Amino acid sequence: MVRELTHFIGGQHVPGASGKFGDVFDPNIGQVQARVPLASKSEVEAVIADAEAAQPGWAATNPQKRARVMMKFLALVQDEMDSLAALLSSEHGKTIADAKGDIQRGLEVIEFAVGIPHLLKGEYTEGAGTGIDVYSMRQPLGVVAGITPFNFPAMIPLWKAGPALATGNAFVLKPSERDPSVPLRLAELFLEAGLPPGVFNVVNGDKEAVDTLLHDPRIKAVGFVGSTPIAQYIYETATANGKRAQCFGGAKNHAIVMPDADLDDVADQLIGAGYGSAGERCMAISVAVPVGEETADRLVAKLTERVHKLNVGRSDDLGADYGPLVGLDGVNRVNNYVQVGIDEGASLVVDGRGLTVEGGEDGFFVGATLFDNVTPEMRIYQEEIFGPVLTVVRAKDYEEGLRLANEHEYGNGVAIFTRDGDTARDFAARVQVGMVGINVPIPVPIAYYTFGGWKRSGFGDLNQHGPDSIRFYTKTKTVTQRWPEGERKAASPGHSASSAPNAFVIPTMD
Ligand code: NAD
Repeated sequence: MVRELTHFIGGQHVPGASGKFGDVFDPNIGQVQARVPLASKSEVEAVIADAEAAQPGWAATNPQKRARVMMKFLALVQDEMDSLAALLSSEHGKTIADAKGDIQRGLEVIEFAVGIPHLLKGEYTEGAGTGIDVYSMRQPLGVVAGITPFNFPAMIPLWKAGPALATGNAFVLKPSERDPSVPLRLAELFLEAGLPPGVFNVVNGDKEAVDTLLHDPRIKAVGFVGSTPIAQYIYETATANGKRAQCFGGAKNHAIVMPDADLDDVADQLIGAGYGSAGERCMAISVAVPVGEETADRLVAKLTERVHKLNVGRSDDLGADYGPLVGLDGVNRVNNYVQVGIDEGASLVVDGRGLTVEGGEDGFFVGATLFDNVTPEMRIYQEEIFGPVLTVVRAKDYEEGLRLANEHEYGNGVAIFTRDGDTARDFAARVQVGMVGINVPIPVPIAYYTFGGWKRSGFGDLNQHGPDSIRFYTKTKTVTQRWPEGERKAASPGHSASSAPNAFVIPTMD
């Protein structure tokens, strides 16, 4: 039976009223399992109104109490980890273990947000001038929106909602229409944790819903994660409408493999980083860059052996290394890129097309694919494939490997494998990429650092989570205060009154 999903507005499930729906698939079997309502402009405007009404009360709740709501939410999600992971996996197609990782990395940002009483402390200068003190405070923006991708349906909504809510904002989440059930369940759990109704809302939708959020003046900030063309569109539209925006886009992450690296270890790591979650990760390694022909020959041999052993299966198969892609469009895109790679002259070492999985004959599966002898002019090198395809670009030396990463239009993540500290240090200093791994293939920073790519992987000044997220979701107010002398001082022995500042000149801090 096909379930009909809802929105979550003002603390309750609200059925769609637009008459428009999107299909949510079970990617294991290629069948529609639910219909998700796609909100109209007027429905989105009603959500914003609810959020705007709820926000002042939440902002006036002291930070300790807001932190307690976050703590309760954390416990509720942890208690429900197994069922949430199963739900996530059933719509996305990632394995259960990977789905738990998706939720867990989201919860780490909630843990960070629990520290909000400390994170919100402002600055204070006593006696900046005679009788003058200066202090700053961070205040919430009001109603903010998050627009999130399909590939981390728990983690990315939580990366945005955690800091946004903890700082006293109301939040309107427009999750991916491909896997909206986990965000809807998270909304119920926020309510159960004590978040007032209307402070966290989920509105499902497509471009119409997003455009309404981008143009409505009551939305003060937009956080986006998704593909680069949409990230750029959202950044430009949101900022043209006077909003703050941080928009994170696609990626092509390189792993430079130096001749001194332990190639067995590197091959193991690249298999996980390249094919985990069917390559549907913005931090997946999609380009391996062995340095020197001998390193390349040995690495390709080790990768080939491991790729053949990968177990692709249903997402609920506990023995599967990875599951299906989220949709048939993804399968077609990957298959198309494999053909492009062949036509461009790359060497197809392992061809994953046409894979059939037992119990998932009509599912959206693609086997692991490996290309060697890929060159920078090829589309399979330049463009994001977002599937289980690892490409090998051979570099003659370290400088060429570094240059490849630096000249690529994307700059999300990068890794270097080496035993040499000097090379690693030089790499970290010179590489033009936002997140760097040294013998770590997927360097997603921990919650109290910030996450963000460079170049066309990120638009906006501030990163996600960590200290940047507190800055992004608050505005700074700076107060300069002077209290005129009162009776207490005037009455004290030996006191002579100080003169009032000249109101006709710009005050200086004497
Ligand atoms: P997507 O760009 O198709 O969709 C992302 C969101 O934008 C969804 O909520 C979708 O409904 C909305 N959207 C889609 N088209 C739109 C349009 N024309 N106008 C307005 N809104 C629109 O991305 P996706 O396929 O869901 O996710 C995969 C992409 O996300 C990949 O490119 C991946 O690299 C990227 N990603 C990046 C990061 C990062 O941190 N840099 C993290 C995860 C995923």
